Order: sequence, then C-alpha cells, then structure tokens
Amino acid sequence: MNIVAIALENASRAYPGGVRALDGVSAQIPQGEWVSLIGPSGSGKTTFLNLVDGLDRPTSGRVTVLGRETTQFASDEMTTFRRENIGLIFQQFHLIPYLSALENVMLAQYYHSLTDKEQAARALEAVGMSHRATHLPSQLSGGEQQRVCIARALINDPKIILADEPTANLDEANEAIVIQIFERLHQQGKTIVIATHDPSLGDLAQRKILLRHGRVVAEHRTKHANAAAVASESPCNENETLVALGHAADCPMRTIELKGGKPDKCPQCGMKLVKKL
Ligand code: ADP
Ligand code: MG
Repeated sequence: MNIVAIALENASRAYPGGVRALDGVSAQIPQGEWVSLIGPSGSGKTTFLNLVDGLDRPTSGRVTVLGRETTQFASDEMTTFRRENIGLIFQQFHLIPYLSALENVMLAQYYHSLTDKEQAARALEAVGMSHRATHLPSQLSGGEQQRVCIARALINDPKIILADEPTANLDEANEAIVIQIFERLHQQGKTIVIATHDPSLGDLAQRKILLRHGRVVAEHRTKHANAAAVASESPCNENETLVALGHAADCPMRTIELKGGKPDKCPQCGMKLVKKL
C-alpha cells in the first residue's frame, strides 16, 4: 500500500487579472516516488512546487503533505513544517555571497537550531565539495554552487526534496554530478519532485507530469517506474488485452496497433508488455 507524500486536490492559484498559474490540478505522489514536472515556461511548474513547499498558497483547493493539510497552516507553522520535512533546491542558488560554502550550509543548520560544523562538513562531502568548503560563492562555478545548495537542502534529512530547474545553469560535468546525487537520494527513499526542461534529468524520474497553462495535460510512467508497484492490466487494443508489467494504470496509451507483430513494450510509457490474454 502506497503512503501518499504529496496530494494536490483541485488546487488553483489565481492572480488578479485572471491569470491562473495553476488551474484545478489534482495529483498524488506516493512516498519514495521521483516525479518530473515538465512543461513550457509559464506552465505552472514553479507554482506547483511552491504550493507544496508552502512558499505560496492555493487560492482554492487543498494541499496535503505527509498527511498534514498544509493549506490549513498558519505561516509560522508552515515555516516549521517546511524546515523539518522539505529540502528546497532552486535554479538561482540563493547562497549568501559573503559566507563560505561551509558557512552557507551551517546557516541552514541555524534555521534548524543546530550548528554542527562536522555535520555541515559531511553534507559538503556528500556532494563532493569538501575541497571548496572555505570558498565564497563567487569563487565557485554554477555547478559547484548548486552542489552547495543541495548540501544545504539535505541538512535536516528531509523526507521530501523539491527542485526547480536544478540543472538549468550547469555545465555537463556538474549536471552529471547533480544527477547522480538525485539518483542516490531516490535510492535512499526520498520523495523527489523536480521541475525541469532537461531530458537527461527528467527521464530519470519514475513518472512525468506534463503541465500546460496551469493544467495537467498528461502523465507518463517512465521505464524507471517500479514495475511491481504499478503492474496492471491495460486494454491496449479493442480486441486484445495486453497485460503489461509496469504499464501504468493511468498511462494515456490505451490502444496499441498490432501491425503484424506483437509489440513488446507500450510505445507511450515504454513499459514491457509481458503477456497477451
Ligand atoms: P513555470 O515555472 O512553468 O515557468 P510559473 O509557475 O512560474 O511557471 O508561472 C505560471 C504562470 O503564472 C505564468 O503565466 C506566470 O506569468 C504567472 N505568474 C507567476 N507569478 C505571478 C505573479 N506574482 N503575478 C501574476 N502572474 C504570475
Ligand atoms: Mg519556473
């Protein structure tokens, strides 16, 4: 039985003048799932993340995180809850320019009311940045700054990691390092939601949610979806039913043309079709 980590129920974020940054979005993200939010600029990805982290509030609908309806929280409650449960990684790194890498990570600890230099140093080590601990942000490349941000986000061992275009400003080598860090976090059982344009990052998620004009227009399970967890029967052809191990119950691909041969995987979600009934 999946435990839901994040649930949006008919969540909307409207602005004066009629802009709907998010428009009636419902989504459930089980604990331990890695989800990519995909969509063009302005489609509502950042708004989605900010309704989950409570930096923004829905104008209607509900948001529940780790079983708590955060839309009911007062702002100080939200701040405490975020601090204890959510690690945030931004595209713009938001590092304090006059503090070293180590001090920036220690500042995050300060907000958790502990400052343990050793622990901060270990967090930097986990992202391969020990050798740059005393450097200022201005002395670090974009990728190195992003790794400091990730160390900062992980300082309280949050259950949920939210990242907004985390590889957008990185060179290839640092992108690969950041991707490895996310893979490791996923293996550790973190729930991860990443807004990204970057296919090499986006495709590593188990599920992709496509947004357009503030709405969910499609969801795809990727080949990384947990096969056992989502094994389902899918009516892929009017006359044939293919049982697909890992073929997502909510995969929009309901029909597979059997052009002479029998496809061995769903062309939409890419999951292996194992048995024809
Ligand atoms: P994305 O992250 O996918 O680029 P956003 O969630 O940032 O999209 O924005 C979604 C929409 O909401 C955009 O059309 C944007 O212009 C609008 N929007 C975001 N913030 C505001 C704001 N403070 N006032 C008015 N419109 C906003
Ligand atoms: Mg954005």
